[in-house]
Amino acid sequence: MTEERRLNFGGKWTYAPALESATVPIAPRYELFIDGKFVPPKGGGYFASINPATEEPLTEIARAESADLDAAVAAARRAFEPWSKMPGRERGKYLFRIARLIQEKSRELAVIETLDGGKPIKESRDFDLPQAAAHFFYYAGWADKLDYAFPGRRAKPLGVCGQIIPWNFPLLMAAWKLAPALACGNTCVLKPAETSSISALHLAQILQEAELPEGVVNILTGPAETGRALVEHAGIDKIAFTGSTEVGKQIAHTVAPTNKKLTLELGGKAAHLIFEDAPIDQAIEGIVAGIFFNQGHVCCAGSRLLVQESILPAVLAKLRDRIATLRVGDPMDKNTDLGAIHSRPQLDKIRELVGGAVEEGAELIQPSCSLPGRGYWFPPTLLNGVTATHRVAREEIFGPVLSVMTFRTPGEAIERANNTPYGLSAGIWSDKGSKVFDLVSKLRAGVVWANTYNKFDPASPFGGYKESGFGREGGVHGLLSYVKLE
Ligand code: NAD
Ligand code: MN
Repeated sequence: MTEERRLNFGGKWTYAPALESATVPIAPRYELFIDGKFVPPKGGGYFASINPATEEPLTEIARAESADLDAAVAAARRAFEPWSKMPGRERGKYLFRIARLIQEKSRELAVIETLDGGKPIKESRDFDLPQAAAHFFYYAGWADKLDYAFPGRRAKPLGVCGQIIPWNFPLLMAAWKLAPALACGNTCVLKPAETSSISALHLAQILQEAELPEGVVNILTGPAETGRALVEHAGIDKIAFTGSTEVGKQIAHTVAPTNKKLTLELGGKAAHLIFEDAPIDQAIEGIVAGIFFNQGHVCCAGSRLLVQESILPAVLAKLRDRIATLRVGDPMDKNTDLGAIHSRPQLDKIRELVGGAVEEGAELIQPSCSLPGRGYWFPPTLLNGVTATHRVAREEIFGPVLSVMTFRTPGEAIERANNTPYGLSAGIWSDKGSKVFDLVSKLRAGVVWANTYNKFDPASPFGGYKESGFGREGGVHGLLSYVKLE
């Protein structure tokens, strides 16, 4: 929780915009990053990346075609032998250098994330950037210690990794993918999401500055088609994907008859449980952060609130008051709590699911807040009286919308929490330790937070069950996704 947010609590401030003043050299055009160099796409195509808070174009981005993909994969293949044979401590030095450069440039990189993606600057500054650097530092430390990670085994790199990432945490997802892969001696072809590619290309500049050997990392920008071609490419040994469950299933289908290794980090529909013995004001803060962080564009967002029936009126009243204090607006304002919705299609999807829930009988609770005239916006929203059969209770909404449901007993809480095709994360608020431990063992979710939410650390593994995917990122488990053990 940031300081601004605590000050904000209680609604006792007077509003004064505090705009981030760092200027960022966003280039008019970004090329592909292949074999250590920035090169124009062979097909000559470019597409715009816009600022979702204003709908204004920020720059244009190269569209990779299959000839570019061939070149990137060939470069990664040439780089593999020397990179994988390099002593781990030497590879680690490059990763430490990359981590330090991310730290040095974190103010401008935060501005890029916010302009290109719509997220509040305080989140880019205090979450995305420190976490991205921390991830490189963490895996830099493993590069020369793989023998200790897997005692008695030899950990061999897989080869060329194709990595496809989403738009909700662009630079951080790049770090989650690249850092462990490189630490283990793999080489990479990374495809950022088409609406949020700019920071990956600034990361490419950092890789050049760090003098990372040519071809070890290649960055191909482009639409879904570019991702599909990467998945199908015969020169790739491993695919790592983060994004929607729908695309994840397609990828699993494509990869199944091949020798490619696969890890998938897909959607979520996390249950956030609050019991009558919970510290209620702390819980309200955790629940609010759990759903409104990054406009709810978070795969582990606590989008289903399960409230013990006896405290429903109190919880609803407090949530209603609290969301009225959230500041929605200019993502570059350091006091903004809720920025812009990332894209028009995402806004349409949020509207559709909320509209459907109201039609199905849910009560809509929104504060009266004025939204900017241009750009993509959605107010912080509660849906009360949602039932398990409502579409909004089953599908990932990926927006600032909390579905409120109830339960009577811990057994009922578990049953309802696990009644979802997903299994990425969950949260529990209760003062009773024994209850927490019991629930943690019964919740079918990869990550369970107790009396906190959205706590991340590079040393802690993250990943899902069921339709949320398989494989773990972070921690020693994250190394397993990038090695074969002999
Ligand atoms: P998406 O899955 O379509 O896109 C994620 C990435 O995959 C992007 O880089 C995209 O270009 C690429 N891609 C798309 N189709 C592909 C294909 N057939 N083969 C290979 N790569 C492909 O996600 P989206 O359309 O941007 O968002 C749709 C929904 O997905 C959201 O509403 C949200 O529910 C969910 N989502 C989840 C996450 C997550 O972190 N788990 C992230 C983004 C979106
Ligand atoms: Mn953009």
